[in-house]
Amino acid sequence: MTAESITHRGADADNTPSRGTGSRHPIAGHGRSTGTASDLAELLCASESAIVLTGAGISVPSGIPDFRSPGTGVWAGVDPMEVAHIDAWRGDPDRFWRFYGERFASLIDKRPNRAHEAVAELERRGLVRGVITQNIDRLHRMAGSRHVVEMHGTIEWSRCMLCGGRVELERVVELLRVGEGAPECVACATPLKPDVTLFGEILPQRAMSEAQQLAAEADLMLCVGSSLIVHPVAGLPGITRAAGGRLVLVTEGETPYDGEADLKLSGDVVEELDAVLATLPAA
Ligand code: ZN
Repeated sequence: MTAESITHRGADADNTPSRGTGSRHPIAGHGRSTGTASDLAELLCASESAIVLTGAGISVPSGIPDFRSPGTGVWAGVDPMEVAHIDAWRGDPDRFWRFYGERFASLIDKRPNRAHEAVAELERRGLVRGVITQNIDRLHRMAGSRHVVEMHGTIEWSRCMLCGGRVELERVVELLRVGEGAPECVACATPLKPDVTLFGEILPQRAMSEAQQLAAEADLMLCVGSSLIVHPVAGLPGITRAAGGRLVLVTEGETPYDGEADLKLSGDVVEELDAVLATLPAA
């Protein structure tokens, strides 16, 4: 497909807001697939300002369990809302890090899977503007995505809340290995806080504003592996829809947006995105 035809079809898409009009894509049912990977490839080629939104489901094939699935990984037997709460860090950083250090250690050797790579490839080909993610695992960047908006922060860094100094993940894990309690700032010996949004904290304002802007400008939002129930991120597809953009869901579970999505693929995220790439015209 030429750039010209993409532009033209993109303009058409702008003039036919929301689902339906002039669309060959079926809309039906809740939680079930309502189209094919090739339908999605077509929508991506026709869009001009598509954006991807990802949740925990895209990292499950990398061996990172969604903590909402009970009894998995480091979350087994603990209440994440309690141990990963900002009050837990404030109240007793040493105790907080005894738990959170395990979480860090469990993430450090994880690698991107083909779904992360597919998202990066879509950006390389100019078919999406970037990715907004709820994940803190840094796998989108590792996969080669350049424009990544991390709504809940990232494990890449831990920060000193007193002097602003920051320490990278590898060093933090090393400090945790040799030390007893919380890793400390090298400059002022204050306990570090992971640069992720803990429960009880508000989301980083800059990331939130950027995500809202991308959502408002998007003529297509592709949501991958998110149940779209955690606010305020769950409101982003609504922003795209309200501005006349299309909505596509790639997730095995149900979402509150199933009824209004233009297309839903409910198979395994890796298989679905592989199939999308396979259907795209050669780069
Ligand atoms: Zn400091």
